[in-house]
Amino acid sequence: MTRRTARLILSIVMLIAATLGGVVATTGTAQADGCYTWSRTLSSGASGADVTQLQIRVAGHAGSGGALAVDGAYGPATTAAVKRFQTAYGLAADGVAGPATFDKIYALQDNDCTPIHFTYAELNTCNSTWAGGAVSASTAKANALRTMWKLEALRHALGDQPIRVTSGFRSHACNDAVGGAAGSRHLYGDAADLGSGPHSLCRLAQQARNHGFNGILGPGYPGHGDHTHLDHRASRFWSASACGI
Ligand SMILES: [Zn+2]
Repeated sequence: MTRRTARLILSIVMLIAATLGGVVATTGTAQADGCYTWSRTLSSGASGADVTQLQIRVAGHAGSGGALAVDGAYGPATTAAVKRFQTAYGLAADGVAGPATFDKIYALQDNDCTPIHFTYAELNTCNSTWAGGAVSASTAKANALRTMWKLEALRHALGDQPIRVTSGFRSHACNDAVGGAAGSRHLYGDAADLGSGPHSLCRLAQQARNHGFNGILGPGYPGHGDHTHLDHRASRFWSASACGI
């Protein structure tokens, strides 16, 4: 069953349930989502797993040169990222994550928590298990999820046109097969190579500087003439000399 089909069936079931119960969902209130549902408004000073879940989804709105820590603590950087997320999607930019912000996130995500324009399958053409890399399978998959939310922010900023991922997670075997670097971030699941069209590789690399990617390699960097590589390594390394980076 496709995800869309599953979602349609879920919608029908929910509609039937709502009709039988005599209850109609009110628009504008936070609605349950198959992936994750926030149960409280979050703002500066809050901490917890629900803040972590929020941070994963707004980390792509880290601002120029920024990289948001996904640490479960709602500080100034999280407030700023939430404000940028709200501005990007036409919401009142108060830096407080309440029902309107959560509703927008629900609208942007699938039931497996991936943003609507990217899939786990897209971020892993190596194997189906996410195993065999430099980290555990669950960590690799979690890293890929974070990358996808950053890509979603990048995609939106570039006018909601498609972005083409040509390589994501790689096991050691897959990395060796494509001649990847020994310590490649692809082994960690947090890297994505992007192909050109409709955006140029330089456009992708330049715009990525605003979306939380500590690693950006593109045209001008050895071996990157035909793709732009993005990742979230621990400290910044950007190199795409043909793009002025
Ligand atoms: Zn790469």
